[in-house]
Amino acid sequence: MPTLAIDGKQVTVPDGTTLLQACEQAGSPVPFYCYHPGLSIAGNCRICLVEIEKMPKLQIACYLRAADGMVVHTTSDEVLKGRQEVLEFLLINHPLDCPVCDQAGECWLQDYYMEYGLYNPKFDEQKVKKPKAIPIGPHVMLDAERCILCSRCVRFCDEITKTGEFGIFNRADHSEIGIYPGKQLDNNYSGCVVDICPVGALTDSDFRFKCRVWYLGSTKSVCPGCAMGCNIEIHDNRERTARPHIAQGARVMRLKPRYNPDVNQWWMCDEGRYGYKFIDERRIINVQLRTNGTARQATWDEALDLVAQTFLRLTEKNQQDRIGVILSTHLTNEDLYVAKRVFQELGIQNLTVQGPARPGSSDNFLIKADKSPNTRGVQALGLSFESAKVLEQAARKELSVLYVFGHDLVDVYGEEAVKAAVASLELVVFQGSNINRSCEVAHVIFPSAVYAEKDGTFTNCQDRVQRLYQAFPPLGDAKPDWQILLEFAKRLGLPLNFLDAESIFKSLATLEPAFQGLSYELIGDHGALLKSGEVAQ
Ligand code: SF4
Ligand code: SF4
Repeated sequence: MPTLAIDGKQVTVPDGTTLLQACEQAGSPVPFYCYHPGLSIAGNCRICLVEIEKMPKLQIACYLRAADGMVVHTTSDEVLKGRQEVLEFLLINHPLDCPVCDQAGECWLQDYYMEYGLYNPKFDEQKVKKPKAIPIGPHVMLDAERCILCSRCVRFCDEITKTGEFGIFNRADHSEIGIYPGKQLDNNYSGCVVDICPVGALTDSDFRFKCRVWYLGSTKSVCPGCAMGCNIEIHDNRERTARPHIAQGARVMRLKPRYNPDVNQWWMCDEGRYGYKFIDERRIINVQLRTNGTARQATWDEALDLVAQTFLRLTEKNQQDRIGVILSTHLTNEDLYVAKRVFQELGIQNLTVQGPARPGSSDNFLIKADKSPNTRGVQALGLSFESAKVLEQAARKELSVLYVFGHDLVDVYGEEAVKAAVASLELVVFQGSNINRSCEVAHVIFPSAVYAEKDGTFTNCQDRVQRLYQAFPPLGDAKPDWQILLEFAKRLGLPLNFLDAESIFKSLATLEPAFQGLSYELIGDHGALLKSGEVAQ
C-alpha cells in the first residue's frame, strides 16, 4: 500500500491505484475526459495533467500508478497552464454549437472551460468541418465535429458490449469518430454511449430537443423492465411544468443509469431506458364503473363502497372462497404486503399472483428473461403463482368476485378463456395503471400509480431489495396500490393504518421473515439483501 503526498496531504492507497483515483481520495480531484472507471485506460485526452516532483515534465494522472514517496501537485502554475493549453487544443476545431446543442448544461467542455480554461483564443484559422446530425442507430445521433476523440464510445463497444461498432478514422486534425462501414449502432446497450460521451457528439434521438437539461428534476429509482432492477435516475420536466399551460404536470423526459457496483455498475439496456413511455400510454386516469356494458366515470367513494359491500356480503355469509384475487409481479413489496394483509385478514384463500405472459429476451450481462421487477419480492412474501387455477374456478362458476391487479389476463390466457371465466361473475374489479383487454370485462376500474409515481421497494433477481422514490404525483385520480387497498380495508373494518410506504415497510420487515432486519435506511441507495435461506428458489 503506497503512501504519497498529494497537495501536501499524505494518503495511503491500495496497490494498483491510479494517481487520478489517489488524487480523488486525497480531496484533490483532477479533471478528465477519456478516463472512465468502467473502461480501460486510454490516456489520450491529456487533461488530467499533474506535476510529480523529480519527474521532468507534467504527467497524466489516469495512467500512472500511485507509488510510495511520490510528491504530487495538482494545482501548481505549471499544471494549470498545461490544462488550459490542453483545453485550447481540444476546442480548436470544436464548433460554437452550445446554444443548439443538447449537451449544453451538462457538457464537460463547458464545465472545464469555466473551471480551467478562460483563455483568450489564439487560433483564427477555419475550423475543420465534419459530419453533423447523423443517425448512427435507432437511438443515437452523431455530430462528429463536437467529438474530442476521447474514445470512450469505442472502448465501450469493444469492451462492454463487445460489438465493436465504433472506430476513429483518418489522421491528425481530420481524425473522426464514426461507425464501421455497413454497421449500425444497434446493440442492446447503445444508449450508454450517450451517457459516457463527455460532450455533445453523441446525443439521444429520443431526448434530443425535448427539454433543456437545466429544467430537469432527478429522482432515484429502479428500472421495472426486468428482474435485474437496474438502478436509474428518472429525469422529469418538473421545472417547466411549474407553468400553468402544461396541465398534465411533470412527465418523464429520460431515464439515466445510476451507479450501483452490485447491480448494473454504470449501465442500463435500451429496452429499459426507452421503456418509460408506457407511463403515459393508455393510462387509466379515472375511477370507472360499468353496468350493462356501459362505462361511466365514478368517484373513489362510490366505487370503493360498491366493492366493499360485495366483499362484506360474501364474508358475512362465510363465502370468502367465492372471491379470487390475482396480484402482480409489477407491484412493490409494500403493495403486495398490504394486499396480503387485507385479503388474508378477510380469510380469502384464492390469493395468487400473475407474472408476465411469457419470458422475454435475455443476455449474459444485465437483461433478464423475467420481465417483472418484483418476482423475488412475491416469493419472499410467500405468495404463489396460481392464477390459472383461479380462472378455472371462475369458469366452473365457483367464484362470484375476481379482483385483478394490472395484468392483462387476455394476453396470458386468451380471450375465450377469460370471457368464459368472467361470464358468471357478479363483480370483476381491475386495479391498474394502463388500459388493457382485461379492463373490458371489469365492472369496476381503479386507477393506480406507476412506479415513477410512488415510493416503495422492488426485490431484484439477486434478492436485493431496492428503493424507488416518487418522481411526481400520480396522473389524474390514480393512487398508489397500497393506498387504494388501505381505503378499501377501512371500509371493511380492518385495522390497517399505515401512513406511508415506509411505515408499511417497517411492519413488513417485522412480520415477514425474509425481510427481517431491513429498513429504508439500511437499503439506502444501493439496496440490501433479503435474509438468505428464507426465500424459495
Ligand atoms: S463521440 Fe464522444 S465518447 Fe466518442 S470519442 Fe467522441 S467525444 Fe469521446
Ligand atoms: S436490464 Fe432490465 S432492469 Fe436493467 S435497464 Fe434493462 S430492462 Fe431495465
